[in-house]
Amino acid sequence: MVRINSDYGKLQGSYLFSTIAKKVGQYSEEQPDRKIIRLGIGDVTRPLTPAVIKALHEAVDEMGEEKTFRGYAPDLGYDFLRKAICDNDYRSRGCDIGQDEIFVSDGAKPDSGNIQEIFAKDDRIGVCDPVYPVYIDSNVMAGRTGDYDIKSGRYAGVVYLDCTKENGFCPDLPEEDCDIIYLCSPNNPTGTALTKDRLQDWVDYANKKGSVIIFDAAYEAYISDEDVPHSIYECEGARECAIELHSFSKNAGFTGLRLGYATVPKDLKREGVSLNTLWARRHATKYNGAPYIVQRAGEAVYSYEGRKEIRGLVDYYMENARVIRSGLEKAGYEAYGGVNSPYIWMKTPEGMSSWDFFDYLLREANVVGTPGVGFGSCGEGYFRLTAFGSHENTREAVDRICRL
Ligand code: PLP
Repeated sequence: MVRINSDYGKLQGSYLFSTIAKKVGQYSEEQPDRKIIRLGIGDVTRPLTPAVIKALHEAVDEMGEEKTFRGYAPDLGYDFLRKAICDNDYRSRGCDIGQDEIFVSDGAKPDSGNIQEIFAKDDRIGVCDPVYPVYIDSNVMAGRTGDYDIKSGRYAGVVYLDCTKENGFCPDLPEEDCDIIYLCSPNNPTGTALTKDRLQDWVDYANKKGSVIIFDAAYEAYISDEDVPHSIYECEGARECAIELHSFSKNAGFTGLRLGYATVPKDLKREGVSLNTLWARRHATKYNGAPYIVQRAGEAVYSYEGRKEIRGLVDYYMENARVIRSGLEKAGYEAYGGVNSPYIWMKTPEGMSSWDFFDYLLREANVVGTPGVGFGSCGEGYFRLTAFGSHENTREAVDRICRL
């Protein structure tokens, strides 16, 4: 009889967002007349922009003509998109990254879950606490985390990098060694971002220890502070120790369209093996390329019109972030983030637990957020609100919270 992967049994509970959906569903059944405002899940709400829609239509028409029809896409992405990425996200920022170091994919979530496959099973991972859950869960499935301890809420074989009010929610270098380090900046869920100096410390650490940093830059478009780097390759030595993940989801609204990319520099080698070659092999074996029409849409994001429109989207959400953060602060709450990111990380009032505050807000204000503890034990006593709603709903939600 077949045996299953017993490591799946170590995964904790149901995925955070399905628990939230269940609670909200129950409440809506009890109180069908209440207007619930959702500032919980990090999905966008604005539609795709005109430049993207135009590119999609044109590409669809091409697919209907014998002469311009395209079958399987190149595994690593079409050259037109890899070039646009390279020119706009790297060269224009002075980062030394080549087109053949870019691997087009269907998003940063799959990449952040899959990238661990190229590392040894006994490599130790280091993750921030609180953390985007995919980094840990994908390693649990791969048998890299050891057993879960209910009391501490942590896996025995993982190095946790505490992100607390004391360190400004930016992880300090660890005392214990870790081999694969996941960093996300601007950060989900805390909304804070690493300055170039802080990130340089991590790059220096990784090069000294032989670790590899998986740098998730999914929220890069939201950066406004000058001293926050848009790419880890702005740091010296990052080509030798870092893989960077990007997404078209949060800047251009591709959450339903699906597009992202991973950057794996050719200088990144461990045990004499190029990780660029390993990732190319893995990609070619398990992935048949992002759809042509979606890659054309991605190219349009970098056009003159596209860049202007995407700026408009980001500005729209960041206006919400400003409204949430300033509203909460005026009402006496402690709030962080929302400056270089669309997430606001608030302290729950009067020592309430994250889930108690979730229930309180749902029932008393009909507003849905995300309990911080769902992202790790350091998130207990915190709560995440997202800026991805409409202006109207965001203002109403903030008014309701402030009236409590
Ligand atoms: N990385 C982080 C840190 C995220 O918060 C998210 C989505 O919420 C993703 C990746 C997912 O990106 P994508 O939609 O490209 O898979």
